[in-house]
Amino acid sequence: MKQTITVFKGDGIGPEITDAVLEILDAAKADLDYEIFNVGEAEYEAHGALIPDDAFTSFEKTRVLLKSPITTPVGKGFRSLNVMMRKKYDLYANIRPARSNAAIKTPFENVDIVIFRENTEDLYAGVEEMIDKDTAHSIKIITRACSERIIRDAFEYAVKQGRKTVTCVHKANIMKLSDGLFRDIFYEISKEYPQIEANDKIVDNTAMQMVMNPQQFDVIVTENLYGDIISDLSSGLIGGLGLLPSSNLGKDFAMFEAVHGSAPDIAGKGIANPTAFLWSACMMLDHLGKQEVAARIRRAVDAVLADGNCLTPDLGGHGTTAAYKDAIIAKLA
Ligand code: ATP
Repeated sequence: MKQTITVFKGDGIGPEITDAVLEILDAAKADLDYEIFNVGEAEYEAHGALIPDDAFTSFEKTRVLLKSPITTPVGKGFRSLNVMMRKKYDLYANIRPARSNAAIKTPFENVDIVIFRENTEDLYAGVEEMIDKDTAHSIKIITRACSERIIRDAFEYAVKQGRKTVTCVHKANIMKLSDGLFRDIFYEISKEYPQIEANDKIVDNTAMQMVMNPQQFDVIVTENLYGDIISDLSSGLIGGLGLLPSSNLGKDFAMFEAVHGSAPDIAGKGIANPTAFLWSACMMLDHLGKQEVAARIRRAVDAVLADGNCLTPDLGGHGTTAAYKDAIIAKLA
C-alpha cells in the first residue's frame, strides 16, 4: 500500500519549493500519496486559521509531515508556529546535517557536522514575564528527561552512522546549574558509549572554532537556543541556508523541514533554492525506509550542482527554481 504523508505548503517561498520538491519526489518514483494543506499567514487571511483543523488531523493520522516554511503573523496568539508544532507533537530532536558539497565553493572544505538540537525547552519554553515596565524576565528551563533523550539520540546516531565524536555545546561556566546539568548528563550518558569520543565546548568558543577549524566537529549535541544559532553558522560554512535540511523527530511523529524561513524578500520571483527542502524530503524518505530513492535524488542533486548551469542566485548562479528542478528530474530519468 502506498504510504501517505502530510504536506504543509506555508508562506513566502513555501508554495514554490513545495511544488518543485513534490514533482521531484514523483519523478523519483517515491511512491507516496500526499495530503496537502495551505497553512500560515496567507491561509489565516483567507480562512481565519493559521493551521486548519484538517491539517492537524492529517498529521495525527499519517505521523509524517513535510513542512515548508511558515510565517507566523505578529499578534495572532502564537509566538511561533514552528515552536508550537515542535511542542505540540513533542518533536524533541532537531537534527541538522551540514555537509560540504564539492560543487559549492566556500572558504571551508570537508565540513560534515550533524547538529542534534534539543527542541522543546531552554529559553524557547516561553516562560517570560514583565517584572515592571523596565524589567523583563525570561526563564531558561533544562530538565533531566529532555536532556537525556536528545543526548542519547546523538550517541545512538553516532554509533549507527559510524561517527567518532560527540561534542556537547553549552555555557556551563556561566549558567552553572542549567547548562551544568546538561553537560553533566552528557558525560553520564557518554559512559554507555565507550566507542564514541565525548568532549564538550563552550558555545562562544564553538562559534570561533567552527569558523577556524570546522573539520574537527563531527556530531554536536546542544540546547535549543545554541542549536539554533550554531546551525545557521554551519549553513554558512557549506554555502548558505538554501542547503541546510532538518528533521524534527519525536517518539510518535516526524516532521521534515528546511532550516531557512519563508524568505519573503524573494517570494514569488521563481528564484528560491529548493535544495534544503529537497534534502529534508530525502531525510523523510530515509525515515520511511526508502533509502534507495533518497540516494538517487541526492545523486541527481549532486550532478546538477556539479554541472553548475542552473544554480539559483543564492549559490551564485542565474538559474530559476523551475530550471533547477527540471535539471534534477532530467538526471533522475
Ligand atoms: P525565520 O525567522 O523564519 O527563520 P529569517 O528572517 O531567518 O526567517 P529566512 O527566511 O531564512 O530569514 O531568509 C534569510 C535570508 O536567506 C533571506 O535573504 C532569504 O532570501 C535567504 N534565503 C533563505 N532561504 C532561501 C532559499 N531557499 N533560497 C534562496 N534564498 C534563501
